[in-house]
Amino acid sequence: MALFETEALILRSYNLAEADKIVVCLSRSAGLIRGVAKGCRKLKNRFGAALEPFTLINLTYYEKENQELVSFRQVEILKSRFNLSTNASLLTGFAYMGDLLIDFSPPHQANDNLFRMALACFEAASETPSDLDAVLRYFEVWVLKLEGFLPDLRTCANCQRTFADEVTYLAPDLSLRCFDCSNGRGGAVTKGLRAHLRTAEKLSPPKFAEGAREVSKETKREMAELTFHIIGRVLERMPRVRPAS
Ligand SMILES: [Zn+2]
Repeated sequence: MALFETEALILRSYNLAEADKIVVCLSRSAGLIRGVAKGCRKLKNRFGAALEPFTLINLTYYEKENQELVSFRQVEILKSRFNLSTNASLLTGFAYMGDLLIDFSPPHQANDNLFRMALACFEAASETPSDLDAVLRYFEVWVLKLEGFLPDLRTCANCQRTFADEVTYLAPDLSLRCFDCSNGRGGAVTKGLRAHLRTAEKLSPPKFAEGAREVSKETKREMAELTFHIIGRVLERMPRVRPAS
């Protein structure tokens, strides 16, 4: 039995037996982990309120060989989000991001970029709840990019030509093609949408959200449709609950 320590973001929890919980979290050094917190539903317990969803904790856990569930030993709150528990749309947005992390992160595979990006998005939405929609789009773009599902926005996947101002087309294999290579078939991706996607690739979540305030409703709608479409294709089903924008 080995003992580990890592930062982790609580994503979801389920009750187990009378006093325990199964907790799903994204950790910095071990990726997505599922663990049992024994006795955490007793009035007096060593976990306190640290296992509430979206709390950032320092986690110490045991791992047994060949067991997917780890055992939580000790937790320490690094950042709680109790102050947000009355903002329903924010909580829906957080739950949605949590769902995507669970859907897209392979268990026990550390991905420091994904962890840092997720923390930055939770932080940005907490700081400026009115930017939630833009933060969710940013989050979707980056989850897709980091897991290798975001198409190359600069060149045609077939003829390698650099895109100019033209409309491009999303092929069934989720690559982006020029008009000639796609015969104009597939989901249209306009120049404006490519530019908006590329700002997401370049900026931090707060900077992206700030810029998004000046972007047309049409382009935002196109981005929401595109990310929704790609996520649905990758998961082979619709995302769980996506907050209305
Ligand atoms: Zn082409």
